[in-house]
Amino acid sequence: MVSPSINFDMNSLVQYKNNIVPNPQAVVLFIDMNSFFASCEQQENPMLRGKPIGVCGNHSNGVIIAPSIEAKLKGVKTGMRMPEARMLCPNIISVEPKSDIYRKFHIGIMNVLRSYSEDVIPKSIDEAVVNLTSYKLVYPDMDKLANQIKKDIKEKVGDWLQCSIGIAPNTFLAKLATDMQKPNGLVHINAQNIDEVLRNIELTDLPGIAERSAAKLKRAGIKTPYEMRHTSPQVLKKIMGGVIGYYWHYRLNFAEVDFYSNGYKSMSAVRTLSQQQRNSPKELQDIFLSLCMKLETRMVKHHFFCKTIGFTCSYQNHTGWDTHINMTRPLQDGTDIYKFLSQKIIDTERERNFTLFTPELRTIGVLVNHFITDKNIQYELFDNNIKRDFLRKTVYDIKDKFGSAKIIKAVEMREKDIVRDIIGFGSVKDMYN
Ligand SMILES: [Mg+2]
Repeated sequence: MVSPSINFDMNSLVQYKNNIVPNPQAVVLFIDMNSFFASCEQQENPMLRGKPIGVCGNHSNGVIIAPSIEAKLKGVKTGMRMPEARMLCPNIISVEPKSDIYRKFHIGIMNVLRSYSEDVIPKSIDEAVVNLTSYKLVYPDMDKLANQIKKDIKEKVGDWLQCSIGIAPNTFLAKLATDMQKPNGLVHINAQNIDEVLRNIELTDLPGIAERSAAKLKRAGIKTPYEMRHTSPQVLKKIMGGVIGYYWHYRLNFAEVDFYSNGYKSMSAVRTLSQQQRNSPKELQDIFLSLCMKLETRMVKHHFFCKTIGFTCSYQNHTGWDTHINMTRPLQDGTDIYKFLSQKIIDTERERNFTLFTPELRTIGVLVNHFITDKNIQYELFDNNIKRDFLRKTVYDIKDKFGSAKIIKAVEMREKDIVRDIIGFGSVKDMYN
């Protein structure tokens, strides 16, 4: 058995910069599909193209969840009831929602975006953020890139699909830029034009500033987003009644506070092994799995999903090994984390011809980072994992209410040798029914 002898410093792995740093040079692209559900319907059925349609929730006289661009031009709005919409636009066509086609187009659009950057986060079924900061040399002209993305979507996903794109040094300003031109927009916010942009909009035009916050700001003498940008973080904190005031200052001054969730930058779970544990491959696997489950519990509590997962181990002779995986789909499930890391370990062992889990092991650890909040993952329409994620949340809610011993997920029992195989959530579901 050969132990790997790659040196590493465990501290450097788990410490990530926690500072918010303004970076006017950063590049974030926000993309918002225009009238997405209605455009998908028109894409699928050419007879509907160019016509005012309303995708309607329950029945053909119900609430319109998505008017087409043509219907919007007649004044039809999301949330309007169909009879009301007919008064504005008598020839509006009611269409039933078809979530599987929206999901199909969503996946196609994400694939286009991922062909340009590894750092793509879907914010909802029709919105995504693309971090291009480390691609500035690859794409010297971001406007050209944005137009190429629009073209790719038309050619590879659907020629009726339009989007608005905003480009700015952070997610918040990129979204603001996206909202400024619809449909088919392309707006840049940068250090040169930001003051002019912010001078010409209302406080309530900022996504996240509702009437109440706007009133508070106005009472304190801040009348425009421009003035808000030039108010110190301390003063904004005082006016807005909390740390959120800091974030507003930083958002408007080119720091990133929205791409990933705030606060925790990473979480890790490490275990020092006893002699007995070191000598039992099965016990090592059980501990490894329990560390993954521990991180799952913490992520559920904080409403996080992670985009990066990692494994670290150290040996008696103070050498160590670590690896990480950047996921395309945000993860929260402990068994998924275990599965992906195990596969990576098996692949590495085979590739380099060594065994990681040896009796020389001293510690093993799992870490997760690059969090996004579950609010940013609107699964209901585009992901089959919604049921599983919802069920996981429900299990934890019940644990909180009745104590954690009441419901034990099958895999958690494994460490106590009750269940041998990894059983996913299917079995827990059976516990309820
Ligand atoms: Mg949209």
